[in-house]
Amino acid sequence: MVDLKSQYKKIKTEVDAGIHEVIDSATFIKGGKVTDFQHNLETYLNVKHVIPVGNGTDALQIALMVLDLKPGDEVIIPTFTFIATAEVVALLGLKPVLVDVDFDTFNISIDSLKKAITSRTKALVPVHLFGQNADMEAILSIAKESNLFVIEDACQSIGSAYTFSDGQQIQSGCMGDIGCTSFFPSKNLGCFGDGGAIFTNNDELAAKMRAISNHGMVVRYYHDIIGVNSRLDSIQAAVLDVKLKHLDEYCNARRTAADYYDKAFGQTEKLITPTRSANSNHVFHQYTLKLNGVNRAELQKYLAEKAIPAMIYYPVPLHFQKAYQDERYKAGDFPVAEKLSECVMSLPMHTELSEDQLEFITKAVLEFCK
Ligand SMILES: *Cc1c(COP(=O)(O)O)cnc(C)c1O
Repeated sequence: MVDLKSQYKKIKTEVDAGIHEVIDSATFIKGGKVTDFQHNLETYLNVKHVIPVGNGTDALQIALMVLDLKPGDEVIIPTFTFIATAEVVALLGLKPVLVDVDFDTFNISIDSLKKAITSRTKALVPVHLFGQNADMEAILSIAKESNLFVIEDACQSIGSAYTFSDGQQIQSGCMGDIGCTSFFPSKNLGCFGDGGAIFTNNDELAAKMRAISNHGMVVRYYHDIIGVNSRLDSIQAAVLDVKLKHLDEYCNARRTAADYYDKAFGQTEKLITPTRSANSNHVFHQYTLKLNGVNRAELQKYLAEKAIPAMIYYPVPLHFQKAYQDERYKAGDFPVAEKLSECVMSLPMHTELSEDQLEFITKAVLEFCK
């Protein structure tokens, strides 16, 4: 699905030098590399504060911790997403309220979201799934009306931007009160282990989240709030600082691959190619097809025989997950998410796909769909 080895080879000299600098300096935690990367990412995103943390799940958890929510407060999340979004809500004793998504974009449905708001709703967590921003103009306007916090799950969308109707363009994760991203190796900006970051333009929230990520500590050994231990390692920051310089190039490489897929698969009605929103560009964390009258398991098997990986993101919507069973939800409540979980299939998508590989993959898929 990804080819991190070939990507590394192209930047090896620079990455290795950065890693060795950290080892030589022996400042593995909170070193200068972390601050350098933080500032470079702030500049890239045009956001006031980047808070590097241990991973994307922690980023979401810290973002929810800073809001001073009370047990039972409701947080709205889409039911078609990676589990982390729901996990942190549940872990903090908050109440995850699930809503459906749009068939076209896979992102949170505005109609479904509006219907889910109650007097106990405190926050919305839109997920910019597969690398395309949710309808943030609508989401921010609803949040303002109902006085809700917006935490963007931008774990799959770093580098994409959203254009508002007044022409203003803002980077993914920098539109709501807080944005969260992940630097897991296979993410669009990935490190060599776990990593994540929080974005905000709010000084007060930034200071508090910085403290929470470091045991709730501002002055050493004085703990004003309950925190966690979630920091980005200096070695990871060294890798990320090199890769950040290539992020736009990486996004373009993914788009070029997506264009190739789109063109090839446009020939058949059996494959529905990803919709590109008018108000967001797409960084294709995943290239996800919707199969239309194609046996998914058989296709996946057929591709596997040709050594072509294909993955199902996500096979089970949150309301059907064992750990999240809830009497509030039953089959049929979120028909779009349920349908998507049965018909989606993601193909290899990364920065190193060659035309030969793309031709091989598309030919095989089309051959099966004949
Ligand atoms: C990857 C991901 C996360 C979690 O990030 P980790 O760094 O793996 O903890 C959260 N939400 C979404 C949508 C993701 O894709």
